[in-house]
Amino acid sequence: PALTFSVLTLFPELLRPFASEALLGKAQARGLVDVRLHDLRDWAANKHHKVDDTPYGGGAGMVIRVDVVARALDALRAERPIDEVVMLTPAGETFRQATAEAWAAQGGHWVILCGRYEGFDARVERLVTREVSIGDFVMMGGEAAAACIMEAVSRLVPGVLGAEASHQDDSFSSGLLDYPEYTRPPEWAGEGVPAVLQSGNHAAIAAWRRAQALGKTYQRRPDLLPTAGLTPLDSAELLR
Ligand code: SAM
Repeated sequence: PALTFSVLTLFPELLRPFASEALLGKAQARGLVDVRLHDLRDWAANKHHKVDDTPYGGGAGMVIRVDVVARALDALRAERPIDEVVMLTPAGETFRQATAEAWAAQGGHWVILCGRYEGFDARVERLVTREVSIGDFVMMGGEAAAACIMEAVSRLVPGVLGAEASHQDDSFSSGLLDYPEYTRPPEWAGEGVPAVLQSGNHAAIAAWRRAQALGKTYQRRPDLLPTAGLTPLDSAELLR
Protein backbone atom coordinates (compact mmCIF):
# COMPACT_ATOMS: atom_id res chain seq x y z
CA PRO A 1 0.00 0.00 0.00
CA ALA A 2 0.98 3.63 -0.55
CA LEU A 3 0.43 4.36 3.12
CA THR A 4 0.74 2.25 6.27
CA PHE A 5 -0.27 3.39 9.75
CA SER A 6 1.02 1.36 12.69
CA VAL A 7 -0.76 2.57 15.79
CA LEU A 8 0.74 1.87 19.22
CA THR A 9 -1.99 2.08 21.82
CA LEU A 10 -3.11 0.67 25.16
CA PHE A 11 -6.62 0.27 23.71
CA PRO A 12 -6.40 -1.21 20.20
CA GLU A 13 -10.07 -2.24 20.36
CA LEU A 14 -11.08 1.42 20.43
CA LEU A 15 -9.66 1.82 16.95
CA ARG A 16 -10.65 -1.54 15.43
CA PRO A 17 -13.90 -0.31 13.83
CA PHE A 18 -12.19 2.75 12.36
CA ALA A 19 -9.77 0.47 10.60
CA SER A 20 -12.30 -2.08 9.38
CA GLU A 21 -15.54 -0.19 8.62
CA ALA A 22 -16.67 2.22 5.93
CA LEU A 23 -14.24 3.84 3.51
CA LEU A 24 -11.09 3.12 5.53
CA GLY A 25 -12.11 -0.56 5.67
CA LYS A 26 -12.66 -0.54 1.91
CA ALA A 27 -9.36 1.23 1.28
CA GLN A 28 -7.62 -1.52 3.24
CA ALA A 29 -9.47 -4.29 1.43
CA ARG A 30 -8.35 -2.71 -1.84
CA GLY A 31 -4.75 -2.49 -0.65
CA LEU A 32 -4.54 1.32 -0.78
CA VAL A 33 -4.01 1.94 2.93
CA ASP A 34 -2.93 -0.40 5.71
CA VAL A 35 -3.84 0.17 9.36
CA ARG A 36 -2.06 -2.03 11.90
CA LEU A 37 -3.08 -1.85 15.54
CA HIS A 38 -0.55 -2.83 18.20
CA ASP A 39 -1.04 -3.16 21.94
CA LEU A 40 1.76 -1.35 23.77
CA ARG A 41 1.39 -3.89 26.61
CA ASP A 42 2.96 -6.52 24.32
CA TRP A 43 6.31 -4.83 25.02
CA ALA A 44 5.90 -4.38 28.78
CA ALA A 45 8.83 -5.78 30.72
CA ASN A 46 7.12 -7.49 33.61
CA LYS A 47 4.45 -10.12 33.99
CA HIS A 48 1.86 -7.53 35.03
CA HIS A 49 2.16 -5.95 31.60
CA LYS A 50 2.81 -2.59 33.18
CA VAL A 51 3.71 0.09 30.67
CA ASP A 52 3.49 3.08 33.01
CA ASP A 53 4.89 4.22 36.33
CA THR A 54 4.54 7.05 38.84
CA PRO A 55 6.08 10.43 37.95
CA TYR A 56 9.45 11.42 39.38
CA GLY A 57 8.96 14.52 41.51
CA GLY A 58 5.51 13.38 42.54
CA GLY A 59 2.08 14.45 41.42
CA ALA A 60 -1.04 12.75 40.19
CA GLY A 61 -1.32 10.14 37.48
CA MET A 62 0.97 7.77 35.66
CA VAL A 63 3.57 8.24 32.93
CA ILE A 64 4.23 5.86 30.00
CA ARG A 65 7.74 4.39 30.13
CA VAL A 66 10.30 5.25 27.46
CA ASP A 67 11.91 1.78 27.47
CA VAL A 68 8.56 0.15 26.62
CA VAL A 69 8.02 2.55 23.71
CA ALA A 70 11.59 1.98 22.48
CA ARG A 71 11.14 -1.82 22.48
CA ALA A 72 7.85 -1.51 20.61
CA LEU A 73 9.42 0.72 17.95
CA ASP A 74 12.37 -1.65 17.53
CA ALA A 75 9.97 -4.54 16.98
CA LEU A 76 7.89 -2.63 14.41
CA ARG A 77 11.06 -1.48 12.66
CA ALA A 78 12.28 -5.06 12.42
CA GLU A 79 9.06 -5.96 10.62
CA ARG A 80 9.14 -3.03 8.24
CA PRO A 81 11.27 0.13 7.93
CA ILE A 82 9.63 3.13 9.59
CA ASP A 83 9.47 6.51 7.84
CA GLU A 84 7.91 8.67 10.56
CA VAL A 85 7.08 8.28 14.25
CA VAL A 86 4.32 10.60 15.44
CA MET A 87 3.73 11.26 19.12
CA LEU A 88 0.22 12.51 19.87
CA THR A 89 0.31 15.23 22.49
CA PRO A 90 -1.60 18.46 23.18
CA ALA A 91 1.84 20.12 23.13
CA GLY A 92 2.47 19.16 19.49
CA GLU A 93 2.16 21.08 16.27
CA THR A 94 -1.52 21.48 15.30
CA PHE A 95 -2.71 19.02 12.66
CA ARG A 96 -4.43 20.82 9.75
CA GLN A 97 -5.75 20.02 6.27
CA ALA A 98 -2.38 21.09 4.87
CA THR A 99 -0.74 18.54 7.22
CA ALA A 100 -3.05 15.81 5.92
CA GLU A 101 -2.20 16.76 2.32
CA ALA A 102 1.53 16.65 3.00
CA TRP A 103 1.38 13.27 4.79
CA ALA A 104 -0.79 11.69 2.07
CA ALA A 105 1.63 12.92 -0.61
CA GLN A 106 4.63 11.61 1.33
CA GLY A 107 3.13 8.16 2.04
CA GLY A 108 5.23 5.38 3.56
CA HIS A 109 5.13 3.77 7.00
CA TRP A 110 3.87 6.02 9.79
CA VAL A 111 3.87 4.94 13.43
CA ILE A 112 1.41 6.78 15.66
CA LEU A 113 1.97 6.76 19.42
CA CYS A 114 -1.23 7.17 21.45
CA GLY A 115 -0.71 8.38 25.00
CA ARG A 116 -2.91 7.80 28.04
CA TYR A 117 -2.80 8.99 31.66
CA GLU A 118 -0.31 11.88 32.01
CA GLY A 119 1.29 11.08 28.65
CA PHE A 120 4.78 9.89 27.79
CA ASP A 121 8.13 10.13 29.61
CA ALA A 122 9.86 13.23 28.22
CA ARG A 123 12.63 11.08 26.70
CA VAL A 124 10.16 9.57 24.21
CA GLU A 125 10.79 12.81 22.28
CA ARG A 126 14.12 11.34 21.19
CA LEU A 127 12.33 8.42 19.53
CA VAL A 128 9.88 10.42 17.44
CA THR A 129 10.09 12.51 14.27
CA ARG A 130 6.98 14.59 14.93
CA GLU A 131 4.78 15.73 17.81
CA VAL A 132 1.21 16.43 16.80
CA SER A 133 -1.92 17.83 18.46
CA ILE A 134 -5.37 17.83 16.89
CA GLY A 135 -6.42 21.01 18.69
CA ASP A 136 -6.27 23.04 21.85
CA PHE A 137 -8.17 20.66 24.10
CA VAL A 138 -7.17 17.67 26.18
CA MET A 139 -8.63 14.20 25.64
CA MET A 140 -8.21 11.15 27.83
CA GLY A 141 -6.06 9.39 25.25
CA GLY A 142 -4.57 9.63 21.79
CA GLU A 143 -6.85 7.06 20.11
CA ALA A 144 -9.51 9.54 19.01
CA ALA A 145 -6.75 11.80 17.66
CA ALA A 146 -5.24 8.86 15.75
CA ALA A 147 -8.67 8.14 14.24
CA CYS A 148 -9.05 11.80 13.15
CA ILE A 149 -5.63 11.82 11.54
CA MET A 150 -6.02 8.48 9.75
CA GLU A 151 -9.42 9.57 8.40
CA ALA A 152 -8.11 12.91 7.17
CA VAL A 153 -4.95 11.53 5.55
CA SER A 154 -6.40 8.32 4.07
CA ARG A 155 -9.17 10.05 2.13
CA LEU A 156 -6.50 12.03 0.28
CA VAL A 157 -4.70 8.89 -0.93
CA PRO A 158 -5.54 8.53 -4.64
CA GLY A 159 -8.30 5.96 -5.18
CA VAL A 160 -9.62 5.92 -1.60
CA LEU A 161 -12.58 8.17 -2.37
CA GLY A 162 -14.56 6.75 -5.27
CA ALA A 163 -14.29 8.40 -8.68
CA GLU A 164 -17.60 10.11 -7.99
CA ALA A 165 -16.31 11.87 -4.89
CA SER A 166 -13.74 14.61 -4.86
CA HIS A 167 -11.99 16.50 -2.15
CA GLN A 168 -10.89 19.53 -4.18
CA ASP A 169 -13.93 21.54 -3.03
CA ASP A 170 -13.90 20.38 0.58
CA SER A 171 -13.59 22.92 3.35
CA PHE A 172 -9.94 24.07 3.67
CA SER A 173 -8.74 22.25 0.51
CA SER A 174 -9.64 25.24 -1.63
CA GLY A 175 -8.55 27.58 1.18
CA LEU A 176 -12.22 28.33 1.86
CA LEU A 177 -15.08 26.64 3.69
CA ASP A 178 -17.24 24.40 1.51
CA TYR A 179 -20.33 25.79 -0.30
CA PRO A 180 -23.80 24.57 0.81
CA GLU A 181 -25.17 21.38 -0.78
CA TYR A 182 -28.81 20.37 -1.33
CA THR A 183 -30.59 17.16 -2.28
CA ARG A 184 -34.23 16.04 -2.57
CA PRO A 185 -36.86 16.99 -1.51
CA PRO A 186 -36.90 20.25 -3.51
CA GLU A 187 -39.14 21.87 -0.88
CA TRP A 188 -38.95 21.19 2.86
CA ALA A 189 -40.67 23.01 5.73
CA GLY A 190 -41.25 26.02 3.54
CA GLU A 191 -37.67 26.20 2.30
CA GLY A 192 -36.80 25.50 -1.29
CA VAL A 193 -33.55 24.82 -3.13
CA PRO A 194 -31.76 27.77 -4.81
CA ALA A 195 -33.07 28.00 -8.36
CA VAL A 196 -29.61 28.25 -9.90
CA LEU A 197 -28.81 24.68 -8.76
CA GLN A 198 -31.77 23.44 -10.82
CA SER A 199 -30.91 25.57 -13.85
CA GLY A 200 -28.51 23.14 -15.50
CA ASN A 201 -26.20 26.12 -16.19
CA HIS A 202 -22.83 24.79 -15.05
CA ALA A 203 -20.99 28.10 -15.26
CA ALA A 204 -23.71 29.83 -13.23
CA ILE A 205 -23.67 27.00 -10.68
CA ALA A 206 -19.87 27.20 -10.32
CA ALA A 207 -20.03 30.98 -9.86
CA TRP A 208 -22.83 30.66 -7.27
CA ARG A 209 -20.90 28.02 -5.34
CA ARG A 210 -17.72 30.07 -5.30
CA ALA A 211 -19.66 33.12 -4.08
CA GLN A 212 -21.32 31.03 -1.34
CA ALA A 213 -17.98 29.60 -0.22
CA LEU A 214 -16.51 33.10 -0.10
CA GLY A 215 -19.48 34.50 1.83
CA LYS A 216 -19.52 31.66 4.35
CA THR A 217 -15.78 31.95 4.92
CA TYR A 218 -16.05 35.74 5.29
CA GLN A 219 -18.80 35.31 7.91
CA ARG A 220 -17.46 32.35 9.86
CA ARG A 221 -13.71 32.15 9.31
CA PRO A 222 -12.36 35.48 8.04
CA ASP A 223 -8.95 34.32 9.35
CA LEU A 224 -8.77 31.94 6.35
CA LEU A 225 -9.15 34.65 3.69
CA PRO A 226 -5.60 36.08 3.60
CA THR A 227 -4.15 32.67 2.64
CA ALA A 228 -7.04 31.51 0.46
CA GLY A 229 -5.42 32.57 -2.83
CA LEU A 230 -8.32 34.79 -3.87
CA THR A 231 -8.62 35.95 -7.49
CA PRO A 232 -9.58 39.55 -8.41
CA LEU A 233 -13.02 38.16 -9.25
CA ASP A 234 -13.29 36.70 -5.72
CA SER A 235 -12.32 40.05 -4.19
CA ALA A 236 -14.95 41.82 -6.29
CA GLU A 237 -17.53 39.28 -5.08
CA LEU A 238 -16.55 39.90 -1.44
CA LEU A 239 -16.91 43.67 -1.90
CA ARG A 240 -20.39 43.33 -3.34
N1 SAM B 1 -0.48 15.80 30.56
C1 SAM B 1 -0.69 15.97 29.17
C2 SAM B 1 -0.66 17.44 28.81
O1 SAM B 1 -1.25 18.24 29.53
O2 SAM B 1 -0.13 17.79 27.76
C3 SAM B 1 -2.05 15.43 28.75
C4 SAM B 1 -2.09 13.95 28.64
S1 SAM B 1 -3.63 13.41 27.96
C5 SAM B 1 -4.67 13.28 29.38
C6 SAM B 1 -3.31 11.73 27.54
C7 SAM B 1 -2.94 11.49 26.10
O3 SAM B 1 -4.02 11.85 25.26
C8 SAM B 1 -1.77 12.28 25.57
O4 SAM B 1 -0.55 11.66 25.89
C9 SAM B 1 -2.03 12.30 24.08
O5 SAM B 1 -1.53 11.14 23.44
C10 SAM B 1 -3.55 12.26 24.01
N2 SAM B 1 -4.14 13.58 23.70
C11 SAM B 1 -4.94 14.32 24.52
N3 SAM B 1 -5.31 15.46 23.93
C12 SAM B 1 -4.75 15.47 22.70
C13 SAM B 1 -4.75 16.39 21.62
N4 SAM B 1 -5.40 17.56 21.66
N5 SAM B 1 -4.06 16.06 20.49
C14 SAM B 1 -3.38 14.89 20.42
N6 SAM B 1 -3.34 13.98 21.42
C15 SAM B 1 -4.01 14.26 22.55
